Amino acid sequence: MLTTNPFEDDHLHEECGVFGIYGHHDAASHTALGLHALQHRGQEAAGIVTSDGEHFHSHRGPGHVADNFGSEAVIKTLEGHMAIGHVRYSTTGETMLRNVQPLFADFEFGGLAIGHNGNLTNALTIRKQLVRRGCLFQSTTDTEVIVHLIAISLYATVEERMIDALRQVEGAYSLVALTQTSVIGVRDPLGIRPLVLGRLPGGAWILASETCALDIVGAQFVRDVEPGEVIILDHTGLRSIKPFAKSHCRFCIFEYIYFARPDSVLEGTSVYGVRKQIGRELAKESAVDADVVIPVPDSGVPAALGYAAEANIPFELGIIRNHYVGRTFIEPTDTIRHLGVKLKHNANRLHIAGKRVILVDDSIVRGTTSTKIVEMVRQAGATEVHMRISSPPTTHSCFYGIDTPEREKLLAFKHDVAAMAKLIGVDSLAFISLDGLYRAVGEEKRNNHQPQFCDACFTGDYPVALADQSGGQGQDGLSAMTEGN
Ligand code: AMP
Repeated sequence: MLTTNPFEDDHLHEECGVFGIYGHHDAASHTALGLHALQHRGQEAAGIVTSDGEHFHSHRGPGHVADNFGSEAVIKTLEGHMAIGHVRYSTTGETMLRNVQPLFADFEFGGLAIGHNGNLTNALTIRKQLVRRGCLFQSTTDTEVIVHLIAISLYATVEERMIDALRQVEGAYSLVALTQTSVIGVRDPLGIRPLVLGRLPGGAWILASETCALDIVGAQFVRDVEPGEVIILDHTGLRSIKPFAKSHCRFCIFEYIYFARPDSVLEGTSVYGVRKQIGRELAKESAVDADVVIPVPDSGVPAALGYAAEANIPFELGIIRNHYVGRTFIEPTDTIRHLGVKLKHNANRLHIAGKRVILVDDSIVRGTTSTKIVEMVRQAGATEVHMRISSPPTTHSCFYGIDTPEREKLLAFKHDVAAMAKLIGVDSLAFISLDGLYRAVGEEKRNNHQPQFCDACFTGDYPVALADQSGGQGQDGLSAMTEGN
């Protein structure tokens, strides 16, 4: 029996990527390619659902996109000219398979598949009400709450039902959905998670979490899906509805810092460009004499390039990454997480020995990576180690779809910068300031009355209410676990 509150476990917050295509005879293989480009957003499971106008076809499973969709035989079974797909990082084996997306359900109006990136903040509260009304949940994902709300909606059309359902949920969601005859894309009213619209030369429409998924299939970027926009793709073309009250966009700034691929352009801004610019700002804010700037690969590379250029200090690949190991951060146990850092990185000794080193990484979460990397660089003979971080200190957990541990496990929650420097063993440590970060994304500074981005992980300023956090869930034996995406 599942009795856990999702916020008591630090492995339940999700990272995901979504893809959708309408109007191509080979929708499944395009979706597999798109998901492959989005693999960095979730490596534990992948799924595709297609529709040929009459029947649905699906394949979902644990593992990477290539593990699931690398064979022509599988792709051939996924017939149809429209498809949606999903990649996710998930939790334990027990719950994983039922939670692999896209979720699919049969309704009064026919079948519907949904893929979700983001995390709902009132999912447990609603789930509790639905369970009381007799709804039987199949999975532990927050996305299933949307499925049940659609099922019980009194509206007639699938679009109306979906909008009705989404009006009741709070949090972050970039969704792709597939009906028998259409593909639907939705972005939450604050646009916290990304979703872009593209088009293939032959006219097929594409929805994807990032532009790198458009590039891989040769699609042109059309525009970002707007916050609060519902896009319906069917035989009549594209329809756009804006059913939610207009609100100010609060795109996740951590997508720029770490999460999105550097070759993606989100909200009109190059991810790589932002990362390099943060490095430049960081060099201006916290200069230090050194012989070499070394990135923690791969996440620290663009910021280190910017830092080195601004500080006029040589850039070297002083740490080499083994690309055949998954992300250390998301390994399930502390032991493996510690080991993972060693499996993943090795010092490029001859370029470190006898040098004063500036190490650049994107973030310090628990401090595991930094501690190990600093130790490795010192063992390789660095005479000084200065750490520069291209985000402000991560002091708060994310409840909108980025995988961060519970607050107590965040190094910056318990320690100030000086204490953190001591703990990770560096001669100096500096983080980009919040305003420096905002400058790097093209703003003059953070507008404290109406922040331009969601930066809750650095400020605690959560733009969407955290209903499940403020109590309610977990009472009267209905503390079912839900996972975000
Ligand atoms: P930690 O070792 O716990 O301090 O985590 C910091 C490292 O994890 C950095 O090198 C980041 O590149 C990486 N990282 C930061 N945030 C995430 C995330 N949400 N998912 C996976 N990796 C992350």
